Amino acid sequence: MSRYMNGRYASISVYTPGEQPKDMSRVVKLNTNESPYPPAPGVAGAVAAEVNRLRLYSDPTCGALRDALAGLFGVKRENIYVASGSDDILNFAFMAFAGDGVPAFFPDITYGFYSVFAGLHGVESRIVPLREDFSIDPADYAGCGGLVVIANPNAPTGLALSRDAIEGIVRANPDHVVLVDEAYVDFGAETCAPLTARYDNLLVVQTFSKSRGMAGARLGFAVGGAGLIGDLERLRFSTNPYNVNRMTLAAGVAAIRENDYYMANCRRIEDTREASARALEALGFEVIPSKANFIFARCPGMEGGALYERLKARGILVRHFDAPRISDYLRITVGSEEDMARLLAGCREIVEVQRHEKG
Ligand SMILES: *Cc1c(COP(=O)(O)O)cnc(C)c1O
Repeated sequence: MSRYMNGRYASISVYTPGEQPKDMSRVVKLNTNESPYPPAPGVAGAVAAEVNRLRLYSDPTCGALRDALAGLFGVKRENIYVASGSDDILNFAFMAFAGDGVPAFFPDITYGFYSVFAGLHGVESRIVPLREDFSIDPADYAGCGGLVVIANPNAPTGLALSRDAIEGIVRANPDHVVLVDEAYVDFGAETCAPLTARYDNLLVVQTFSKSRGMAGARLGFAVGGAGLIGDLERLRFSTNPYNVNRMTLAAGVAAIRENDYYMANCRRIEDTREASARALEALGFEVIPSKANFIFARCPGMEGGALYERLKARGILVRHFDAPRISDYLRITVGSEEDMARLLAGCREIVEVQRHEKG
């Protein structure tokens, strides 16, 4: 860090993204929850058409995409906010709905960016431990007195709460915002988006990165009451009104037009997830029941870091978090059927080598 850095940011801890290897031909990449499937047929043409208009700024209202999303969720344009990835929305939410004496509440095991944003904006983090089985106890979030942030399904566990359970949390915090991060909701959990019509303190955040295979396009959106959306817009127009580029806006509209294609891919990933989970269990792994496009699992008798390294040595990249309670677990993205076959072959080999060594 240079000596010119504002002292306020000198001590923040930054987020560590998963690796993006240069030579993709040699690895099975199951470490950042990307989709294994190509974009819908209409997306490439929609993006190409925008290349000729790159000299012009993008639409600061993001009107076409917001209308498309509003149609999908049965709400109005004023209920939709779009940003360059949902991380940008989470960032603004910590700025807008916490700080200035309002803390933020989130689980001890959850998406790592929440504590980063809290640190960045000087928001006090109130960490709420998950139960022993990694589930969230909704009662822990009654009358919090601050911003509540819940990933549903949670990451990296993959466990989901029901819509009713989330509604209970929203009702129990009428004076503060409850943010539900639904990055993985399309893989089998229930969205809380319909509840936003009834609760003005509920913000539902989703992304095109996972279920619509557009992580590289950077596109996220929020559904909420016009009040909360207006608050986010206020911050957007104070930083970067052209926050979503032309090509991404066009890709987003095209993707929503072919939403059925993406939802069919999600069903396929769910099938692959369940088959892979059963196969891992057959090898002796403990698998947390997942509603996401990843599996959180451990191999009893093997340290998580060691398993991670052994898979990596076989060209299989997964995610390991060296954090309390979960250091023996790996988060494994559900890839294509072929990717998972290679993962399972690698795991089988590793388990057999270990069995041999133990004699
Ligand atoms: C991937 C992920 C995001 C961020 O997605 P982007 O839209 O790519 O910024 C947000 N929350 C959770 C829990 C995620 O896993």
